[in-house]
Amino acid sequence: MKLVTCHTPRGPRAAALLENGAVDLNRADPDVPACIKQLLAAGPEMIRRAAGAAARAAPSPRESMTLLPPIPSPEKIICVGLNYADHAREGGFEPPPEPVIFSKLPSAVLADGHPIVLPPISQEVDYEAELVAVIGRGGRNIPRSDALEHVAAYCCGNDVSARDWQLGKPGGQWLLGKTFDTFAPFGPYLVTADEVPNPHALGIRCRLNGQTMQDSNTSELIFPVDELIAYVSAVCTLAPGDLLYTGTPPGVGFAREPAVFLQPGDVVEVEIDGLGVLSNPVA
Ligand code: MN
Repeated sequence: MKLVTCHTPRGPRAAALLENGAVDLNRADPDVPACIKQLLAAGPEMIRRAAGAAARAAPSPRESMTLLPPIPSPEKIICVGLNYADHAREGGFEPPPEPVIFSKLPSAVLADGHPIVLPPISQEVDYEAELVAVIGRGGRNIPRSDALEHVAAYCCGNDVSARDWQLGKPGGQWLLGKTFDTFAPFGPYLVTADEVPNPHALGIRCRLNGQTMQDSNTSELIFPVDELIAYVSAVCTLAPGDLLYTGTPPGVGFAREPAVFLQPGDVVEVEIDGLGVLSNPVA
């Protein structure tokens, strides 16, 4: 099932995207939570129930729905740096022996189709195509063997990065360089985990104005999703709806000769096999 969150007069509500429209899941079946975090937390049985309700309902035209980011207010956005060996080397780093973890603030989320806004205080804003895992059931100290059962869905993400902040400021402002408003696009929808049999065998691409800039496969991840969840949850409790950006393959703009940075009018697309295309203009 493809899941989104719609803006409605009654607040944000979870919906299923179908071929011919979208279905407000709680209206289709009152037992299905209207809040997408609660829906993801409820587990695979509730996801199956929601999918059944969506299949029986009369969908509304997709154009009649205003889509928010699929998780409008995640509690946490956890990101992994240098998780593809070739990308680490193109930036002048050796592949790390343990995951390199940083975060974005929830205020950075952005829905598909909405503009990445270039801040006037950065001249070096870059793209990073990434697989995003969305936490369903939360937890602390999650063993690696159980970790994928805590993932409710997957989607495309763009870890938009102001390189002059991330790398150029004293000490390296990884948090600030990665968390300007609009720097966490994800979507265009969530694909529930039952439809992603192997998250570590997916082609992943980034196109800038139609030109392919990144083209790899999630099989190249140094630290796979289950290991990342075990690693991070040893430190903090993961919550339903938390986003895990798993790192980007080679081809980012700052490592190119000459360097490529986002300009107003650009369009950035992140495409992952089976997860659709996340497209954002740049303003
Ligand atoms: Mn990244």
